[in-house]
Order: sequence, then C-alpha cells, then structure tokens
Amino acid sequence: MPNKVVIKCQCGNTIHCVAFTNHCLKCDLDYNFAGQLLAPRSRWGEETGETAADIIRETSYHEE
Ligand SMILES: [Zn+2]
Repeated sequence: MPNKVVIKCQCGNTIHCVAFTNHCLKCDLDYNFAGQLLAPRSRWGEETGETAADIIRETSYHEE
C-alpha cells in the first residue's frame, strides 16, 4: 500500500488505516482501509442478514 490513510476519529484520536478494518480503542468505532466510518459491529448484517464475517470476506474479494 503506497499511501497510508491517516484520519482523525470523531473522538479526536488519530487512526492509521493500515488494516482492512481499523478499530478506535478510545470510542469503539471502526473505520475501513479508506478511512470511512463503519457501522458498529453489533449492527452489521441487520438489514442484509449477513454476519460481520460474511461482509469482511465478501468485501476483501474486491480488494486486488
Ligand atoms: Zn475514536
């Protein structure tokens, strides 16, 4: 990955988006590799019926 995404969390914590999902230890939010805020894990799959693991697996297919 040539460009590391570094973002500032809503809580003011700095997040280095080096992994596919990046967890903020301060406020418990998750961001993806592009620095986009993800829905809380407890709500993942609520509408689609997918589990968090399904979503991660499915999305990583698009990462080439
Ligand atoms: Zn935070």
